[in-house]
Amino acid sequence: MNDAGARGKCAACRYQRKRCEENCPLAPFFPSNKVEDFNKVIRLYKVGTIINMLNSVADNEKKAKMAETLILEAKIRYENPVYGCIAVEEKLRLEIEETMKELDLVQKANTYFKELRKRSLYYKKNKETSTSGTQSFQGHKSDSTLEEATSITEHHAIQDVETRVDYNDNDGT
Ligand SMILES: [Zn+2]
Repeated sequence: MNDAGARGKCAACRYQRKRCEENCPLAPFFPSNKVEDFNKVIRLYKVGTIINMLNSVADNEKKAKMAETLILEAKIRYENPVYGCIAVEEKLRLEIEETMKELDLVQKANTYFKELRKRSLYYKKNKETSTSGTQSFQGHKSDSTLEEATSITEHHAIQDVETRVDYNDNDGT
């Protein structure tokens, strides 16, 4: 009994209908249980090309990783015959783009609420100072900051309302 008898003919030799020698370069990466995977890989690359690619890297760990990558590429190409891996890449790219937009919005909202909190603390502090009757120059300074903040907020609120009213008017006619 030769080596193939012990570990079973490798997927590549089974495909080529030949004896699987003990030193078969493809046996460690395409064992007998990977017949289906190898049949997909062979749609993309010739046996010689697969061997050359595996030989282009030195250590076995990298060779195994390469075989894994070839199988993955072949599977994706099998599912997406036209675009192959590009279809997956494009899908992921769009997902990243959407997530980045979402992150940007969350960061902006975060900044807005932080600012709002800061201003409400100023307001609270200021109120306390003025009721105790010891309003300092700094208190006046904070007051003007608060007025500015309030006017900005009110301005935006008015704009929001105006936009909504405009929208409703257009909707009505
Ligand atoms: Zn073999």
